[in-house]
Amino acid sequence: MEVLPNIEKPIEMDYVNCIRCGLCLAVCPTYREHLNEISGPRGRVALARKSLEGELELSPNLVEQMNACFSCLACNEICPVGIRPAELTLSMRYVQEQVKPASWKQRLFGDLFPHRGQLETATLPLRVYEHSGIRKLIYQLRLTNLLPSQLRDMEAMLPHLPQRPLRQVLPERTDAYSQSRLRVGFFLGCAQNLLYAEESEASVRVLARNGCTVITPRDVQCCGMPARGYGRLDLVRAQAKHNIATFEKVDVEVIVTDCATCGSTLKDYSTLLKDDAEWASRAELFSSRIRDGIRAGSSFCTVSRGRDCLMSNSHEPYIGNR
Ligand code: SF4
Ligand code: SF4
Repeated sequence: MEVLPNIEKPIEMDYVNCIRCGLCLAVCPTYREHLNEISGPRGRVALARKSLEGELELSPNLVEQMNACFSCLACNEICPVGIRPAELTLSMRYVQEQVKPASWKQRLFGDLFPHRGQLETATLPLRVYEHSGIRKLIYQLRLTNLLPSQLRDMEAMLPHLPQRPLRQVLPERTDAYSQSRLRVGFFLGCAQNLLYAEESEASVRVLARNGCTVITPRDVQCCGMPARGYGRLDLVRAQAKHNIATFEKVDVEVIVTDCATCGSTLKDYSTLLKDDAEWASRAELFSSRIRDGIRAGSSFCTVSRGRDCLMSNSHEPYIGNR
């Protein structure tokens, strides 16, 4: 009898060749934290296998272990036999979502995230908080000390927010400052649009100064990483198709992003859509054009102006620069 019928799930090759060597344990942050077999990649591969072979149900503990993975991808790179525990973990989250969907994920990642305008409206209170002087006053009066510790930490992590989302300010076309030698697409990620606008504006200036005509399509959607992290692969694929079609319309040679999370996800569209007859080759071409901001800087940007260059690289690549 087929286990977990009628749902999309990992295939045997995704886990069966694990030789349990344990090399991945040495690089896994969750294993190092808990020193517990099931909190590491080898344990997650074993749990996934047992579940997919019908020996273990999708128990709360199994789901928790899959959700506890940081998706840092370190285990993927070190595995000597090509197992990709990070991807397997994400796929298991999708299995869980198909078996027991959470409605809040649909509302957040399906109804809000793909719509830039709604996301911008939803984050308006944060910009008011920053620019009305309330934030400054709270700091002057040291009122942050009264906040619960978790909220205080979140507040402290909030960067200096732009007055307006960058999408509303940046022109769709920025001409090269000198003779144009390359037509570049710029993928403006959600965080860059809402939180790190100054940095992305600087990235576009660096590209223009280096002879690039920069096209920044306004109607791109979220790259899909948040939905992917929460197990909604179906939503990621829908967002991927939208973004691919959007960049096909603007005819660019390369696509630069200065958000490492977006970069790694956009490069993965080719894998996510490889079994889709209509989209596989389009996704392949799209992903091959993606350039991480710092890599673009070293490959075709030779002219920089100190502050812009530093700012444009300030959202440092994490996964994308691997
Ligand atoms: S996933 Fe790879 S690195 Fe980890 S135990 Fe299995 S074979 Fe070894
Ligand atoms: S991707 Fe997950 S399992 Fe792999 S090393 Fe990172 S935290 Fe550990």
